Amino acid sequence: MDCLFCKIAGGEIPSEIVYEDEWIIGFKDISPVAPNHILFITKAHYANINELSENPKDLTALFEAIRKYTLQEGLSEDGFRIVSNLGVRAQQSVPHVHVHVIGGRDLQWPPG
Ligand code: 5GP
Ligand code: ZN
Repeated sequence: MDCLFCKIAGGEIPSEIVYEDEWIIGFKDISPVAPNHILFITKAHYANINELSENPKDLTALFEAIRKYTLQEGLSEDGFRIVSNLGVRAQQSVPHVHVHVIGGRDLQWPPG
């Protein structure tokens, strides 16, 4: 399958990986919107968060990875935001499930 994030997960396209386990990788977003902007993805391909939610094992693994990473980096204390865009109106631009972890500065609400 010609999928950008499958290629990143497979090491075919380089990325700055900050977290990895058997099911998940976390890597730096190429266009960060904050000092800390990491994308967490499953190594298996799912189109979006709803498709991933049909597989509780991978879904749990994704959120466990975020918990471990944000605790380790002090983001759990400092505060951070997670975002997962689904579909055109939410401006999902890569059709492989990803959760943005954004932190390291004061964030505004509501988002655009
Ligand atoms: P979306 O817009 O789908 O919610 O998020 C996709 C994210 O992937 C964007 O924030 C974009 O900057 C990031 N991105 C797109 N292509 C690449 C790439 O080749 N490498 C990395 N590290 N991030 C990418
Ligand atoms: Zn994929």
